[in-house]
Amino acid sequence: MKRRKSTKQRPQVGLLGKELTRRSRGRCELCLGRDDVRGFELAPWPEKPDAERALMACHRCRSWLQDGAIEPIEAHFLSTAVYSTTTPVRLAAARLLLDVDSPENPWLATALHAANIDPDTGEFRDSA
Ligand SMILES: [Zn+2]
Repeated sequence: MKRRKSTKQRPQVGLLGKELTRRSRGRCELCLGRDDVRGFELAPWPEKPDAERALMACHRCRSWLQDGAIEPIEAHFLSTAVYSTTTPVRLAAARLLLDVDSPENPWLATALHAANIDPDTGEFRDSA
């Protein structure tokens, strides 16, 4: 069912460390957790790592982004993260929402609507 392959991170993501740490203040930009927070690039990667296509994420959120195995019960913070003013955080949250495998959740439908993401491309829909 997965629309994208597991995205193993490349070492160059380290180049973004300083900038991402400043932006995130060392917290996961999705759930604000502090567990093993590291940079994560969103596919498709630009040639040079770009903070506008990357975010700081904790151990759990990185594994969700990588494997798409989201625990809906733990995922409510996504309904806040889709309103982030930081574009890559919004995009990461939207992609995780697409991967939550229980569309009967009302909060999920609301959050997905707010995310305005195209399920086929995994990118935002153009706002007309
Ligand atoms: Zn997190």
